[in-house]
Amino acid sequence: MSASSLATPTANKLQGKVALITGGASGIGEASVKLFTRYGAKVVIADVQDDLGQALCKELGSSATVSYVHCDVTKESDVKNAVDFSVSEYGQLDIMFCNAGISPSLLHTSIFDIEKSHLEKIFDVNVCGAFLGAKHAARVMIPAKAGSIIFTASVAAVIGVEGPLAYTCSKHAVVGMTNHLCMDLGKHGIRVNCISPFLVQTPMMDSAMGSVVDRKQAAEWLSAAANLKGVALEADDVAEAAAFLGSDESKYVSGLNLVVDGGYSRVNPIITTVMKGSYN
Ligand code: NAD
Repeated sequence: MSASSLATPTANKLQGKVALITGGASGIGEASVKLFTRYGAKVVIADVQDDLGQALCKELGSSATVSYVHCDVTKESDVKNAVDFSVSEYGQLDIMFCNAGISPSLLHTSIFDIEKSHLEKIFDVNVCGAFLGAKHAARVMIPAKAGSIIFTASVAAVIGVEGPLAYTCSKHAVVGMTNHLCMDLGKHGIRVNCISPFLVQTPMMDSAMGSVVDRKQAAEWLSAAANLKGVALEADDVAEAAAFLGSDESKYVSGLNLVVDGGYSRVNPIITTVMKGSYN
């Protein structure tokens, strides 16, 4: 193996890169903003929670490294502005992490629980927002003949889970968009991947589960449901997956749905559970 084919040292794997992270003010996005800057990237946080986004910038230091821009991903003019801001402020855009998302209550599992308008609201953010992010990122990445576009899908995109119907549909669409754009943008040197995490206790998950259980009980349920025991999935773990997909360590990886679920979607333990008589 030649020295040049060796991966960049982990400590600065995003050195020299500029990343735009939607939904960067909270949860997985916030963890990614922190990790990306630690790995040497310059980061633009794009979110609708202005106070949180600006406070995060302040916490991380100088505007030479991290900036906040108000961006509602459902509005094309906002997304265009966020992309253009990244280029004008930092000179380029290397990583577009389309991570902003919303989830309804976990109780909305049946087709009779929701109206068409609920489905449209979820799709507007989770699917159309991701589409707009990819479209405007591609606009500036194509002339550069390089770039990494990353979406946050979900374990709900891998299996039909007992989660909200609209959410499951929207995240399956994100995986479809990843597959299509991998082909569409590959000829321009742009990689397109997505990440499908198991449940993480972020503000979104707190509010989706809040209608059912409190945070402590939710943590116990997640631990009981998880396939991989002894560890809990954290926002930082998803951020590490995003940093990998944004870095040159994954320079030939495209079209991947990087499932970060501890094997949850690979197994269905119900039969053995029934055989042992512990399923009700
Ligand atoms: P979160 O609520 O902590 O963060 C989501 C962020 O997106 C928030 O800062 C919110 O303000 C922002 N956002 C929402 N609508 C927006 C809009 N229209 N424009 C711009 N920003 C907007 O939740 P999270 O869990 O960190 O979610 C991040 C992503 O991870 C989402 O796409 C979510 O679907 C996905 N995901 C979460 C989990 C989980 O269990 N938490 C699991 C799998 C996938």
